[in-house]
Amino acid sequence: MRIFVTRELPGNHLDRLWEKGVQVEVWPGEALPRETLLKQVEGVTGLIPTVEDRIDAEVMDRAGPALKVIASYSVGVDHIDLEAARARGIRVTHTPGVLAGATADLTLALLLTVARRVVEGAAYAREGLWKNWHPKRLLGLELEGLTLGVVGMGEIGRRVAQRAEAFGMRIVYTSRTPKPLPYPFLDLEGLLAAADVVSLHLPLTRETHRLLDRRRLFAMKAGGILLNTARGGLVDTEALVEALQGHLFGAGLDVTDPEPLPQGHPLYALSNVVITPHIGSATTKARDQMARLAVDNLLAVLEGREPPNPVV
Ligand code: NAP
Repeated sequence: MRIFVTRELPGNHLDRLWEKGVQVEVWPGEALPRETLLKQVEGVTGLIPTVEDRIDAEVMDRAGPALKVIASYSVGVDHIDLEAARARGIRVTHTPGVLAGATADLTLALLLTVARRVVEGAAYAREGLWKNWHPKRLLGLELEGLTLGVVGMGEIGRRVAQRAEAFGMRIVYTSRTPKPLPYPFLDLEGLLAAADVVSLHLPLTRETHRLLDRRRLFAMKAGGILLNTARGGLVDTEALVEALQGHLFGAGLDVTDPEPLPQGHPLYALSNVVITPHIGSATTKARDQMARLAVDNLLAVLEGREPPNPVV
């Protein structure tokens, strides 16, 4: 039985596979070229991919009939063709919950950074422009009293709301279904009209692709902030660039479309945008726990048990 893991993972969770006699191959490099992925998966029983690996029908067919489980090292499985997996009887699992606190923390970090122009201020000081104090310099927004609109009230959205409440923000939200939470549930259009800060925490699917199109971006409050720590494809990037040139106060983006965002992209030229390289779950604790869950799920399927975190 052979397993392919597309990146080195933190911790020693893969040892549990070796102990069970499973042969584990780990790609030691940074990016994994498509051709290498296609070659490495030949004959594998299981696969642990990351968000950067497109796992489609071609990959599944190259793996062949031995492939039983794709245990994604992620929450959000938009990089996996779920229909193709279902059609081939391949189980797909993910790592929910354990990265929610880390991703919520990063969302608040982006919010404070954009609202208080921290990156602009740091560059101003570092570049030697800080010669005096002025009452009108680098003025930003104060969070207390602002309304946060959470789009997608799941594991991460709930934690973002809790953190934002501590800053004195009012919370409104939209989701597929209302939750037993003390915040007003609005439809998306109502939320965009009410919120000073819109934060995305829903999966990227066919239905949610470009959910924030040009019309909706410009339906956000003038002077508002957009936060996206979910998936880049939820937002029309071209329209966002326009909205950031006058309509919005700023944006904090941990995910982009395209991703990675190429050097020279117009978003990098805007001083009111803070972009981080998809590091929502990048804490030692979260990444270790994601590895634990991926191995738990993989082993469960290999041993004929129901995996703890099934997607398909
Ligand atoms: P989750 O617990 O499954 O929550 C997702 C929420 O989105 C659910 O509450 C769901 O609604 C809601 N939703 C789904 N479709 C919707 C729609 N069409 N309109 C409105 N709401 C919708 O997932 P999570 O752990 O919070 O993660 C959310 C997303 O964050 C993931 O899908 C992933 O793409 C992204 N993510 C990013 C990072 C990063 O590194 N930046 C890390 C982790 C996750 P109901 O509950 O009402 O059904």
